[in-house]
Amino acid sequence: MSGLEGPSSDEEVPDWLASLGLPGLVDLHTHFLPERVLHKVWDYFDLAGTHYGIDWPIRYRFDEPTRLDVLSGLGVRLFAPLVYPHKPGMAEWLNRWALEFGRTTPGAVPTATMYPEPGAAEYVAAALEGGARCFKVHVQVGGFDPRDPLLRRPWQLLAESGVPVVVHCGHGPLRGEFTGLDVFAEVLERHPGLVAVLAHAGMPEYGRALELARDHPGVYLDTTMVGVAFSERFAPLPPDWADRLVPVAERVVFGSDFPNIPYPYAEQLAAVAGWAAAEERLGISFLRAVLYDTPARLLGYD
Ligand SMILES: [Zn+2]
Repeated sequence: MSGLEGPSSDEEVPDWLASLGLPGLVDLHTHFLPERVLHKVWDYFDLAGTHYGIDWPIRYRFDEPTRLDVLSGLGVRLFAPLVYPHKPGMAEWLNRWALEFGRTTPGAVPTATMYPEPGAAEYVAAALEGGARCFKVHVQVGGFDPRDPLLRRPWQLLAESGVPVVVHCGHGPLRGEFTGLDVFAEVLERHPGLVAVLAHAGMPEYGRALELARDHPGVYLDTTMVGVAFSERFAPLPPDWADRLVPVAERVVFGSDFPNIPYPYAEQLAAVAGWAAAEERLGISFLRAVLYDTPARLLGYD
């Protein structure tokens, strides 16, 4: 098993990481929620045939201790458990839960989220003071405009803090009223200091995501669901993807969407290894940066 080949099963992941000389993985994009809420999310995925026109059987549908064991068994040393609201009045209590979960769960970092609503600036400031290491903003699920004036101060606070915000603003897998990278580009223009991680590498607008990363030094792409067989069916990568990653190789971070994925975790790692193998200017050093160094630095652990 050479590093550039990638693991063919979850069982192979720890040996594969060791072959790369990595102490483990840093996963910047996972989801944890209070059990009751997570079950509702899973119920929604069960109806994915209706919502997305595609079946989405959750691969890691286990209780919380088991899910944590799976991550640690895969060699995940550090992860961001992300939360996001789908309506007003939810973000503040989600933040209380996620900050506490991050503080008390080995390997997790405290995270937070926001929604355009009165009080958002106050609870974002409180979450930053409370030690949030990563934020998540979900434009499609939230159904809001990221340019909403109620978010101006929160974006500004995030930009000043340097804390990364994982932004799901692409059209995939579902279009929303305010999805699209051109909409989020206006937020970046207004807040040039923002450290923004484009979730799913902007899927399906991969080219536009690469442009935003090129134009804004604080913009990163996460690998979440990118390049795996499941996504290639509806949002295929451009054939020259690996070549186009070269100029932004330092701005790619590993993310998985664990546990809500319909395929083994190892498939995501194999996809990233495939890009590294396809372009000699990427190679092992790219893999090490994506899987560990860059996300660790973003989360403040370097
Ligand atoms: Zn996600």
